[in-house]
Amino acid sequence: MNPADLEFARAARGFMPDDEGEALHRLAAECPVDGPFLEVGSYCGKSATYLGSAARDSGRVLYALDHHRGSEENQAGWEHHEPDLVDPEVAKMDTLPIFRRAIHDAGLEGTVVAVVGDSPKVARFWSTPLALLFIDGGHGEEPAHLDYESWTPNLVAGGTLLIHDVFPNPADGGRPPYEIYLRAIDDGFIEFDVVGSLRALRAP
Ligand code: SAH
Ligand code: MG
Repeated sequence: MNPADLEFARAARGFMPDDEGEALHRLAAECPVDGPFLEVGSYCGKSATYLGSAARDSGRVLYALDHHRGSEENQAGWEHHEPDLVDPEVAKMDTLPIFRRAIHDAGLEGTVVAVVGDSPKVARFWSTPLALLFIDGGHGEEPAHLDYESWTPNLVAGGTLLIHDVFPNPADGGRPPYEIYLRAIDDGFIEFDVVGSLRALRAP
């Protein structure tokens, strides 16, 4: 990853650890099939700057999907709540302005296309085949499984599936990302890399 992109990515706001972010970039840069990338769950744009840098270098586009209202675990009273991300006039979270600024500052406005909406709704009429899919949206039971069911059918054979926050040990974190990882294995995806809680699988 070039040093300027790396600096912007590291400085972006979010919970993605540096080593997992750099792995995102590497895995995207090594994606062996043609087509655009899509991430489910963009938050403030940290993962999008890592993936977007690789997308730009290979002349691709990264669709960055988020309703920007936060997951359950980002709401007031939950573990990952950041109070300054609430729009006080509507009393809802709004990460879109921060996301947009991060993409601008990273020089990725020509590469990263924000898709603002509810993941299963957007997926319903989506038909563009994807070379890479990164799942890091809602981590509750229903949202995680819906993301898996909604988006993996769009991955081309040989494409790259990345799942974040996969914790085999329940003491380390929530179950649903691990459950959809197990579903992927069951569905014939082949795991080929692990960095922290990030799993990389090859689409059948
Ligand atoms: N990938 C980001 C972090 C994403 S946090 C990074 O590493 O930088 C999870 C995000 O998923 C939140 O921003 C939340 O708004 C989004 N999200 C949760 N459920 C969603 C849904 N049903 N549709 C769209 N986005 C959703
Ligand atoms: Mg995550």
